[in-house]
Amino acid sequence: MNSHSDGGADADAVVIGAGVIGSSVAYELAGRGLRVTVVDKLPAAGYGSTSSSSAVVRFHYSTEASVAMSWEGLHYWLDWDNHVAAATVSHESLAEYVPVPVVMFLDSAEPRPSYVRHFDTLGIPYELRPASEVDGWPMTVDLHRFGPPARLDDADNPFWGEPALAFDQVLIMDQAGYVSDPQLAAQNLATAATASGARFRYQTEVVAIERSDRGPSGHGDGRVRVTGVRLADGTGIETPIVVNVAGPHSLRINQLADVTDDMARRGRPLRREVYIGPAPAGYDNTTGFMVGDLDIGVYYRPERGDNILVGSTEPECDELEWVEDPDSFDETLTEDEFQLSMMRTARRFPDLGIPHSKRGLVALYDASEDWTPLYDKSSLDGFYMACGSSGNQFKNAGIAGHVMAELITAVEAGHDHDTEPLVVTGPHTGLAIDLATFSRRRPVDPDAANTVLG
Ligand SMILES: Cc1cc2nc3c(=O)[nH]c(=O)nc-3n(C[C@H](O)[C@H](O)[C@H](O)COP(=O)(O)OP(=O)(O)OC[C@H]3O[C@@H](n4cnc5c(N)ncnc54)[C@H](O)[C@@H]3O)c2cc1C
Repeated sequence: MNSHSDGGADADAVVIGAGVIGSSVAYELAGRGLRVTVVDKLPAAGYGSTSSSSAVVRFHYSTEASVAMSWEGLHYWLDWDNHVAAATVSHESLAEYVPVPVVMFLDSAEPRPSYVRHFDTLGIPYELRPASEVDGWPMTVDLHRFGPPARLDDADNPFWGEPALAFDQVLIMDQAGYVSDPQLAAQNLATAATASGARFRYQTEVVAIERSDRGPSGHGDGRVRVTGVRLADGTGIETPIVVNVAGPHSLRINQLADVTDDMARRGRPLRREVYIGPAPAGYDNTTGFMVGDLDIGVYYRPERGDNILVGSTEPECDELEWVEDPDSFDETLTEDEFQLSMMRTARRFPDLGIPHSKRGLVALYDASEDWTPLYDKSSLDGFYMACGSSGNQFKNAGIAGHVMAELITAVEAGHDHDTEPLVVTGPHTGLAIDLATFSRRRPVDPDAANTVLG
């Protein structure tokens, strides 16, 4: 895409948010020749929700487009030093991809989850094995079925009792893994974007989205278009394109732009806690595995220093903690929730030692109703969104930047994306990614995801 502005504008595009996805969008747009300015109210790239990410890279999602996107997303991590070559050249440390398989526990008598069908359709490799034959697990894993999960004060619930049934099959995704330092990944992308000409302005807060019905050229054309952003210091940046990548603040930015009316889906800030505790013996980066363990209501992965990282998979019995103001939420870990998550994890790993003092972090997801992101245009010409990342889009940062740049290029060239959703081809895998799945106007799907697994 060539430089868009026809004179006068300060930038061809403003990206709001220098998280891992915002920095990736900036990198891709700058690579297409746009003069990009990224604004972030924090002091550096990746200081927002990206910094708290568990950064798990896996491929099982409920929709085909999400599976395709995550498989494509993996290839950016596998080729990271080339992808962020400018960061490599400037001798910046690079985020590291740590391969750790994802294992899903299955029951061969039950229908297979929908992602298995998507794997088959798209050619994503996986292996099914009888649970009894899984070797290389030096730690004690109890493959009984405990779920559905219960609260600790529901002591009589069968979840805490003696289980009768067990999973008899495992599905293994060998190419899964996690990224060692999510904040560094965002910084790598910001460095690469800067080398491509993007400008990053930190400690700079957007407080208003400017619009005009006079069109990008200043001649009235009847359509309302974004014309810039206003900043907290009273100055502004004129631009014909604004991309909302504000993470848990994305709803606020969409409200400032007055674009929420036609959004059937939107991200909202959701408070989440993630814990770190000592791993059960034998569970580490080499011998451990990662599981979105819906049966016990937690996800877990190895964490450096012989630890285990534990998050929630939003079981029905747990109340979701929606946050009104993303700048003001309780950032202290909750003792009860910590104990609960560890006790649930101990159902799977009976050797798990439950530490006396809690360790971990509190952060916000930007969660949509169906746990699927929005990569879309909006009702305001020139205003785009990459938001609603629902606790599961870190892995897709590379491809999300590409998808947004393709979308913006097509729409600015006149493509009617709302009527004919764009299908983007993954540059590494050639897989088709149908952006209808990520539309702000997508209908309610009765089979939609209801957990962070998406
Ligand atoms: C606890 C947790 C665990 C997660 N685990 C995983 C995982 O295992 N795997 C996975 O794939 N994904 C995971 N995710 C999701 C993933 O981390 C996010 O989807 C991703 O980091 C979002 O990046 P972003 O760039 O969209 O947003 P952010 O990193 O939140 O960046 C948004 C930026 O916008 C800035 N901003 C906001 N408002 C303004 C304003 N008005 N003016 C200027 N700047 C503004 C903020 O300062 C912030 O830096 C997890 C998320 C969390 C919170």
